[in-house]
Amino acid sequence: MTNFHPDLETITEYAAGSLPLAQAACVSIHVSYCRHCQGIAGQLTSLGAALFETLEPVPVGDTQLNAVLARLDEEVPLQYANGKEQASATPAILQRLMRGDFSDLSWKNIGSTLRISYLKTGDPKHEFALYHIRAGGRIPMHTHRGSEMTLILEGGFSDADGSYHKGDFLVRRPGDVHAPTALQSEDCICLAVLDAPLKFTDWKFRWMNPFLTLHTA
Ligand SMILES: [Zn+2]
Repeated sequence: MTNFHPDLETITEYAAGSLPLAQAACVSIHVSYCRHCQGIAGQLTSLGAALFETLEPVPVGDTQLNAVLARLDEEVPLQYANGKEQASATPAILQRLMRGDFSDLSWKNIGSTLRISYLKTGDPKHEFALYHIRAGGRIPMHTHRGSEMTLILEGGFSDADGSYHKGDFLVRRPGDVHAPTALQSEDCICLAVLDAPLKFTDWKFRWMNPFLTLHTA
């Protein structure tokens, strides 16, 4: 049961196919966990389909037709790993992006409680990363230079605003400051989609700020 959901504007953009790839993948994974948002996305998709039917056909030029036909020759961007998706509860789209499971990823350790794995979505403007925080571990106090979507995949964390669990979806805006701490009972794995690097406000970590760059595509 998830308690925190994308807002209606975000689900509408998701259903219309106009969200950037990395954000769409994040919303899609939340929707796979959340019956509430499945219902809304389903209704919006039906509404969109009905609106399309009322549109008058518009002739397109050869250039556009050729561009569409050329896509048939493109390589499939995401491949399933050797049938692993059959046996796992991890959402299929996440397995495709991970090309396997959490154990198949390469992780970068940041201190003793946090490790990060960057995944490629093909989105040139958004970083799509998995954060693994040890039970009870804390991410240093930081703020956001841009926006961040966060989706909890395993365990949960809390910050000054509340406590979040598997499937919960959060958005942080520029200037929001927080220091999430994983629940004591289990490790937390969450997905973060960023359009600008974090900025640490904790003095012990501020030296890292000039080196933080966005890992995209
Ligand atoms: Zn939801």
